[in-house]
Amino acid sequence: MENLTDLSVNPGKQPYFYPNRMGRVILLGMEEILGHSGVNAVLNLANLPVYINDYPPYNQDLCFPFNHISQLQVGLEGAYGPRAGRGLALRVGRACLKYGLREFGPELGLTDLAFRLLPLQTKLKNGSEAFAALFNNFTDQRVRLERDEKYIYWHIERCPVCWERQAEAPCCHLAVGLLHEALYWVSGGKYFEVEEKKCVACGDSACTIVIDRTPMG
Ligand SMILES: [Zn+2]
Repeated sequence: MENLTDLSVNPGKQPYFYPNRMGRVILLGMEEILGHSGVNAVLNLANLPVYINDYPPYNQDLCFPFNHISQLQVGLEGAYGPRAGRGLALRVGRACLKYGLREFGPELGLTDLAFRLLPLQTKLKNGSEAFAALFNNFTDQRVRLERDEKYIYWHIERCPVCWERQAEAPCCHLAVGLLHEALYWVSGGKYFEVEEKKCVACGDSACTIVIDRTPMG
């Protein structure tokens, strides 16, 4: 018997996917920052009118292809210009956390009192590992963590944000914004410096986001 399942979950030639509900989280975060008409403009420019007034459903099916995620960034930069687009992508990433927690909060296991009482560095370690596991377990994105005394290195191997893009400078602002807000939440309200130092779109082998373990201020 021919297996037709692959065809239904792999539209076109795209090999890697986010689950529908994560695509939905991105579009909801985008709508919070840009408003409804802003999202529509971006979706048109991104060549993704299919999602206008029809966001992906709340389910775990791996149907939101990586190139749609990178195209959303392209649309954002097209609609607002590269500079403003970058700032907006960071804000969209931050806004995504709230919707992401609504969807994936129970899977993360970071909400109980025992976690809240842990020392800051343990929270950062456990929190970053839980977020990495979320991507590794529920999406085709791969995250590898490294740590030294000063920094946490969030290596995205197979990155949807810059998928099939080429850029002069690291461009995975959505991921940076999301991590920034995730660390704020995990730490109970502290800001950390988060910067993307390497990017597949610039020819690097992975997108590396460096997190300073010492909070700012
Ligand atoms: Zn990337």
